[in-house]
Amino acid sequence: MGSDSPHLMEFPRKILIGPNVIQNLGPFLTALNNNFVNLAIVTGKNVKPRVHPLCQSCLTDYSFRDSWYVVNAATMDSVRSLEESMTSYLPDAILGFGGGRSVDVAKMVAFDLRRPFISVPTSASHDGISSPFVSIRGIDKPFSVQANTPLAVLADTKLLSEAPKRLLSSGCGDLVAKVTAVKDWQLAKEETNEYYGAYAANLAYMSAKIIIDMFSGEKYEDTQREIRTVIEALISAGVASCIAGSSRPCSGAEHLFSHAVEYVAGHGFGLHGERVGLGTIMMAKLHGLDWEKVVNTLRNVGAPTTAKELGLNDQQIVSSLVMARSLRPDRYTILDEVKLDHSSALNLARSVSVI
Ligand SMILES: [Zn+2]
Repeated sequence: MGSDSPHLMEFPRKILIGPNVIQNLGPFLTALNNNFVNLAIVTGKNVKPRVHPLCQSCLTDYSFRDSWYVVNAATMDSVRSLEESMTSYLPDAILGFGGGRSVDVAKMVAFDLRRPFISVPTSASHDGISSPFVSIRGIDKPFSVQANTPLAVLADTKLLSEAPKRLLSSGCGDLVAKVTAVKDWQLAKEETNEYYGAYAANLAYMSAKIIIDMFSGEKYEDTQREIRTVIEALISAGVASCIAGSSRPCSGAEHLFSHAVEYVAGHGFGLHGERVGLGTIMMAKLHGLDWEKVVNTLRNVGAPTTAKELGLNDQQIVSSLVMARSLRPDRYTILDEVKLDHSSALNLARSVSVI
């Protein structure tokens, strides 16, 4: 996209954050004024028993008819089978209720079936909560694809605080990534005259900075205040993507590295934000940023800072670094400046103690 091309901004219309807000799901949906009756709720097998009893009576009180669908994986197979089961009655709205997987699958199904999508995250694991982007396995692209922005977001901080801590650490990894993503975007503007939106860039950068300021000096204590800060930062980062009209402010070379790891090592090596956090350490070094501050932040939130912690060996890290820039040639990043080969990639990973 050039600097004078038009682009569309689409935002969530209502965002409700706070403890126990799940019990207000009925009035929240009614207040959207869309006359929804039939709801398809996409969730995970561990999340459903936790959340179903909390919102069932409220949904019934407000005359909603809810059908629940349990998904196991964020794959195109899950998307297709859900779409098949929904075509006979077409729900008025689709809710993604759970962690990253349920939100991603529900967002994709809603996009394909042209239904409104409502995001109800129960873990703060990545910035897809409020953005139009989804990461689904089984599509022909190795990176996230664009669907529709959620119509609304409801984030219950009590539920979020009960999620496994590792998910929140991963969310922090996806947030610190914005320091290198924004630097890559600036670089692309200078080198290729790509459209650059200062407002979106600053908003994304701020969501990283708030986490780095909060955690680079002290350990994560698991308080409601910290959870609220992380979820608000993730929502702001998603909104930054809505403003930019692309994932640019949130996803640079550190995300390309994470996608390359999935190519090189396969799936099952860390969560999205964990891999991205590791990538951020190395890309921060290439950008000449304070990478040690990134390491300290990740350590203090309990996120991995070495290949070993993710179960990856030295060779897998080096191969991923070398491969990363080829995955998305249209996205100019620091990797297009540095052009890592085997030996410079090895030196880079060693210099920041990732390997
Ligand atoms: Zn991400």
